[in-house]
Amino acid sequence: PPDTAALGRSTWTFLHTTASYYPQKPTETQQSKMISLLDSLSTFYPCSWCAKDFQKDMKVNPPEVKTRDDFVKWLCERHNTVNRKLGKPVFECSLGKLDGRWKDGPED
Ligand code: FAD
Repeated sequence: PPDTAALGRSTWTFLHTTASYYPQKPTETQQSKMISLLDSLSTFYPCSWCAKDFQKDMKVNPPEVKTRDDFVKWLCERHNTVNRKLGKPVFECSLGKLDGRWKDGPED
């Protein structure tokens, strides 16, 4: 089976970094492609219980992809939902904290 911790760290790195560089004024096409990416990810994510919970959470909290700032905050909240489920500390979903970690910050 996959190493769900390593897979999770890599996937969050991809998602938060991609959100950081998402356009501030995305076109309709870019918005629908991001929704497709998230739908596809939650369909094929190779940790079935993670995928199932992520799909449920996205149904209650649909992706906010109208601007970069909305999207990075929405994603932070989805990650915090998983953090709470796993008993991990929650992250402060401010643009300052998020950009410091994922845009201007460390590369790891
Ligand atoms: P991670 O949670 O991987 O976080 C990596 C880094 O992101 C942190 O070091 C921190 O700098 C930063 N960070 C933390 N929180 C936030 C935030 N809210 N916003 C922005 N940056 C943040 N694992 C399970 O065991 N069960 C599950 O059901 C499960 N579901 C998952 C669903 C998805 C969609 C994904 C991508 C992963 C899931 N995982 C799940 C994996 C889990 O979230 C962690 O990735 C894994 O446990 C490793 O945790 P970690 O402590 O190394 O840090």
